[in-house]
Amino acid sequence: MKEAVINWNGFLNDLEHQVLSAQISNQVLALIAVQIRHLPIYNFRLGFQGGEAIIAEMLARLGKSMKRALCIERIAPDRFAVVVPQIGVPELLAISARKLLADLAEPFMVGREIVSVTAAIGISQYPDHGATAEALMSEVEWSLHSTIGDATAFHITTKTHSDQQLMLMQMGADLHTAIADESLSLYYQPKLDLKTLAPVASEALMRWTLPDGTRITPDQFIPVAEASGSIHKLTQWAINTALREGVEVNFPDRDYSVAVNVSASSIYDPGLVTIVESALAIWDLPPQLFTLEVTESMLIKNPELCFRHLSRIRDMGVKIAIDDFGTGFSSLSYFKTIPADEIKIDQSFIKAMADNDDDEKIVGSIIDLAHKFGLQVVAEGIQSAPVLHKLQALGCDIGQGYYLAKPMVLEDYQRWLKGVEKAPGGRG
Ligand code: C2E
Ligand code: CA
Ligand code: CA
Repeated sequence: MKEAVINWNGFLNDLEHQVLSAQISNQVLALIAVQIRHLPIYNFRLGFQGGEAIIAEMLARLGKSMKRALCIERIAPDRFAVVVPQIGVPELLAISARKLLADLAEPFMVGREIVSVTAAIGISQYPDHGATAEALMSEVEWSLHSTIGDATAFHITTKTHSDQQLMLMQMGADLHTAIADESLSLYYQPKLDLKTLAPVASEALMRWTLPDGTRITPDQFIPVAEASGSIHKLTQWAINTALREGVEVNFPDRDYSVAVNVSASSIYDPGLVTIVESALAIWDLPPQLFTLEVTESMLIKNPELCFRHLSRIRDMGVKIAIDDFGTGFSSLSYFKTIPADEIKIDQSFIKAMADNDDDEKIVGSIIDLAHKFGLQVVAEGIQSAPVLHKLQALGCDIGQGYYLAKPMVLEDYQRWLKGVEKAPGGRG
């Protein structure tokens, strides 16, 4: 097995050399970057040697899968780069990328543990995406970056970046200052008790407004924040802001809960426990009125570490909700061990319920099973009265969706609550 030393400079030399000969002989090349996802987590779980054993295995598999490779090197702790002579038909590149991902994901033993690694692949091609080794490397980095949050986990760079992609790249740095210059805000989307239709809670959803007034949605900037390292600051800001504004909403005598979303890397960060602890100490919101929403897919990546952090937060009295439930392919046996209070059935099931009996059955069984394990069930993405009525009939506890209420700025949310409370049958 080839020793997996990091050889960034050597690789860059090789790539320069390959680009030069491709230029001379009028050939095309593909540069493939392979990232082993969550290596620090493996290092944590299996020790550094375990992490290195994974890298060595992946390198061996790369060699086997990519027999035509001109060079293969480890270029960073969690990254390999491969140069292959261009496969004639571009579509074949996508097929080989998929096959490579499947090869890398085959489970194997590290010590006494079974490991199945998730990898991401980025691809750039000479001469379409760059005429120099440096240009191809930066294209392939962007390509790899574009796989964040993408289930297919591979990306072939397109010839030109969209203006928006370039803007976001530039914005990575600006996110660091976004908190200080008050361009971030939280919108609140109410969660309603489906029996009484009374509001019981809200979910805080982050928005970023640029100086020119453009509003960027979290699906766009959260991956940028993850990549640029500002995500922990954003999480800390969101938790503190939601608690502070939660107190404001509840003053003097209401008891609406507020939920904050936590992203993948924050959940694995031991600092999250301290952030929650100190925010609760600063703001006067009772912990049971505060919920953290974590997605199901984050949990199944490393359940032990995730569960440990969540249990410590739960011990403080804070509620945990499992977001996007049903999309992470976790087994139902999770219900037994999950340190959670609430599950949020993914919007895709709820939207499909409108005209699909199968989805209604799935939602029905999730609700029944969750109730057996004492979990509260939230349906998100309710967009019509028929879906609302179906969910009520299925015994779903809480509902959220544009049909009930859209996300609102704090002042509008407060006004909305006052209106609901004054209405006949309202809480007030
Ligand atoms: P999510 O946690 O699943 O949040 C629900 C998303 O669905 C929100 O989008 C919400 O505006 C939208 N939504 C609610 N009801 C409906 C409906 O009836 N129909 C449709 N089509 N959409 C509905 P948003 O605000 O753009 O947030 C997207 C995602 O970004 C969130 O998904 C969450 O994962 C993430 N996010 C939001 N705020 C934060 C944050 O403060 N921190 C982190 N880490 N992630 C956040
Ligand atoms: Ca959420
Ligand atoms: Ca969700």
